[in-house]
Amino acid sequence: MGKKRKNRKVQILSTIIVLFIALIFGLFSNEELHQKPTTTNLVTNQDITDNLEVYFIDVGQADSILIVNNDDAMLIDAGNNDDGEDVVNFIKEKGIQKLNYVIGTHPHEDHIGGLDDVIDSFEVENVMLPDITTNTKTFEDVIESIENKNLEITIPKIGDTFTIGEANCEVESSIIDKSNLNLASIVIRLEFGNTSFLFMGDAEEENEEQMNLKTTTVLKVGHHGSTTSTSLDFLRQINPQIAVIMVGKDNSYGHPEKETLTKLNNIGSKIYRTDLNGTITIISDGNKCEVQTEK
Ligand SMILES: [Zn+2]
Repeated sequence: MGKKRKNRKVQILSTIIVLFIALIFGLFSNEELHQKPTTTNLVTNQDITDNLEVYFIDVGQADSILIVNNDDAMLIDAGNNDDGEDVVNFIKEKGIQKLNYVIGTHPHEDHIGGLDDVIDSFEVENVMLPDITTNTKTFEDVIESIENKNLEITIPKIGDTFTIGEANCEVESSIIDKSNLNLASIVIRLEFGNTSFLFMGDAEEENEEQMNLKTTTVLKVGHHGSTTSTSLDFLRQINPQIAVIMVGKDNSYGHPEKETLTKLNNIGSKIYRTDLNGTITIISDGNKCEVQTEK
């Protein structure tokens, strides 16, 4: 009897030990299961759920670019003073009520002209302007709209980063030189999956020399295709598949200049122009860009 009881005790004890081992083993294998997806997530570093839409709005001899992804939107420039209403209507037609970022690349009328109308018409989270002022009525109107909405101006620094939906943006240049406002242009590089965009404003060769140049899918050509921008060295390094020139038909500046078009053609960029194509829409799925034109 004594021996049998002892045997039963051993049996119960070993069952408990087996269950305990099984429990520990179970916990470890669960741990392993938990870890696996994390590792997978790290390998695929992009989880794109929605296309990126970039609209190069035809505002004649001026710039205005709307960028939309998920529920986020950013506007870079807003055309001349007379374009304000058209830009506002364009944004409204896309069903957008809030702009996460409104950027005035530099205080020339063909970039910030319609910015006051935009700020007055939408909920705006951030306004970005370069660290330079002018005494024009156009500039003062923009400042007045910013003040009326109690917004603070963000002055970007090179290397500053922010996101629009699933797109990563980085400030690449802005040179403060009172004798040339174009150099103040806030240059933004946007990366979306494996595709990228470089928004140059009216940045010139001096800005290009300062920038950290990487291969880029889409280039918004600097300064309406003027020869003061888009140096050959710059083009060779960014090697854009698509070049967008924002320019007015028969403008008095002779933009875009032949030399710039030749350089872009030689490098193999497909050129789109707002004077010939109207509003240009580029849709990126994170791997490739599809271009749609109004004309
Ligand atoms: Zn301009």
